Amino acid sequence: MKIVNKIEEIKALNKELKKAGEKISFIPTMGKLHEGHAALIKEALKYGKAIVSIYVNPLQFGKGEDYDTYPRDNDGDIKFLEELKADILFIPLENITAETATFVVNPYLSNILCGLFRPGHFQGVLTIIMKLFSAINPSFAFFGLKDYQQYIMIKKMAEDYYPDIKIVPVPTVRDTGGLALSSRNLYLNEKDRKHACNFYKILSNTASLFNSGEISAEKLTLFTTLELIKNGFHIDYVKIMDKELAYEKKAAENGDILLSAVRLSGVRLIDNIFLVRTE
Ligand code: AMP
Repeated sequence: MKIVNKIEEIKALNKELKKAGEKISFIPTMGKLHEGHAALIKEALKYGKAIVSIYVNPLQFGKGEDYDTYPRDNDGDIKFLEELKADILFIPLENITAETATFVVNPYLSNILCGLFRPGHFQGVLTIIMKLFSAINPSFAFFGLKDYQQYIMIKKMAEDYYPDIKIVPVPTVRDTGGLALSSRNLYLNEKDRKHACNFYKILSNTASLFNSGEISAEKLTLFTTLELIKNGFHIDYVKIMDKELAYEKKAAENGDILLSAVRLSGVRLIDNIFLVRTE
C-alpha cells in the first residue's frame, strides 16, 4: 500500500492512475478503523483502486467536542489497511482545512437532526469532503448508512457539484448485540457498551410496530422515546422522515426512516432504521 501525505502528491498519483485507465474508489475516514470502515473498503475494492483517507477534520468538531481526544492510531490503521489490500492511504500530516476556508453549506439539512445539536458540524464535513473530492476526483465514493444525514448531504452535494462521482451507500456494520460500530464506542466502558445495544433493539422494536400496522409517527416516536428513557438513554432526538430527509412524517410509509441520537454516560450515539412493511 502506498502512503501519501501531501495533497499535491495525491493529485499527481490520481492523474497517473486515471491515465492508466484505472477507476478510483474513495473512502474518507477519520481513522481508528474498525469493521464498519472495512465494509466500505471491501465494497470499494470491487469498483476500482481504493484510496482511503484518514484525517481528523478539525472543522467538523464544535467547541467543547472531542477533537483533542478523538482516538488516533495511525500504526494500527496502516496494518488494518494493508490486510484489507487497500491501494493508497492518504494521511495528511498537517491540517488541510483552515478556519478561513471557503465553507460548503446546505442550510436546510445542516439545521435538522444532528445539525441542531452540533452547530457547524455538517458544514465542516461538506467542506472537507469537497476539498478531498476536488483533489482525488474519484469515480466512486463510499459512505456508511450509520451516518445517514451525512450520507444524504454528501449525495446531494455530489448531485449539485460532482455529478460524475457516484456516491455508494454501505449498510451499517454492528457488533453481535446490534450496536453500530463506531470509533467513539471506545469511550464506553464495558458495561455501557453492552447496555448500548438496547438502542438499536428499541429502534428495531419500533420498526416491528410499524410492520404490524402502526403508522402514526407520533405514536411510533413516543413509543421509542419512552423505551429509550426507561433504558437510561438521554435523548437528543427521535424522528421519522422520508428517506431523502426532505420532511418529517405524520403518517409513516414503507421506506421511511426512523433516526435517533442519544447519550449514554455522556457518550453520544446515533443510529437509524428503515421502516419496512413485509407482507
Ligand atoms: P468516520 O471515520 O467515523 O468518519 O467514518 C468514516 C466512514 O465510515 C463514514 O462514511 C461512516 O459512515 C462509515 N462508518 C462508520 N462506522 C460505520 C459502521 N458501523 N458501519 C458502516 N459504515 C460505517
